[in-house]
Amino acid sequence: LVPILLHFLYTAATPYTSLPAVLLIGPSGSGKTALLTLFERGPFYHNKDATNSDNAKPSVSTPVAETHTTQVPSAVELAVSSSSDPTSPATISSYRTDLDAAGAQAKKFLLVDTPGHPKLRGHALASLAQDTPTISVPPTPASSFNPSNSNETNQPSKIKAVLFLIDAAALADSDSPYLSTAAEHLHDALLALQRRHRARKGSRAPPAVPVLVAANKLDLFTALPAALVKSNLEAEISRIRRARSKGLLSSDRQDADGLDGDEDEADGWLGSYGSEKFSFKEMLEFDIEVEVLGGNVVGEGPGAEKWWRWIAERI
Ligand code: GDP
Repeated sequence: LVPILLHFLYTAATPYTSLPAVLLIGPSGSGKTALLTLFERGPFYHNKDATNSDNAKPSVSTPVAETHTTQVPSAVELAVSSSSDPTSPATISSYRTDLDAAGAQAKKFLLVDTPGHPKLRGHALASLAQDTPTISVPPTPASSFNPSNSNETNQPSKIKAVLFLIDAAALADSDSPYLSTAAEHLHDALLALQRRHRARKGSRAPPAVPVLVAANKLDLFTALPAALVKSNLEAEISRIRRARSKGLLSSDRQDADGLDGDEDEADGWLGSYGSEKFSFKEMLEFDIEVEVLGGNVVGEGPGAEKWWRWIAERI
């Protein structure tokens, strides 16, 4: 049965040039590889209970992935079905639904994991800084879990959304530098997206790239709930941008870019210039929607379905 199924899935693959991409970023250890694997294996891993029910909790009993140590982005090809009425969430399929086998009309996209090492973050941030953010991913070989994988073109993919995954349990440890490291990473990603607005040519706004902050590991009782993850990140980003702005004021700046001091300062300031407390809502000034949603990849908890729906509504 399996070879027949694989053959069917392979031949059902639709030709295309490059798929839209969702960029997966976040500190190492936040669960990026685990999430990628869960979504990729979804329909196969949960064959028995792929019921598309909202109440069914994903439950993964075995470790789903090893942390990969590659230095290049890795991607999985995923598919979600959507109806002509985007306001109706009931029409979005679960990641556990096997759309290929069902022959459903599906939207395909790539979920692109970026190397977790801090030194390699620059690659993802540089991708986000482009007027129309794109990312090149190496061709992904068809895997036994996703045999229809057809990303053979190596064309750059347009980044339609960013998923920033964070370990909500690590965030709860006030003695660890996790919060400041993670907030800095998020700050830099948001600033890269924001800067596109200042750098744009003419009046055309750059394409909107919404950001989901996914608070992971909510199966652990030590994990902070999503609301606290949000407020802690906002407070820490307030601190970061204040500290950076002082750095800008005190350093001998070379205005080789032709901007005067105030413009330079505003260019490096995340959100509403001069505001006291940072809030993710400020990013709407730059057409950047930021939402924080809790979930988990492993164990018992709210699962990953909300993140999946968020992605599905934006690709
Ligand atoms: P990455 O460095 O961001 O790719 O993180 P990994 O995917 O390698 O995950 C790091 C560790 O966190 C692994 O041991 C995972 O099994 C674990 N992990 C991932 N998601 C969850 C979760 O939702 N709950 C718990 N308890 N552990 C998780």
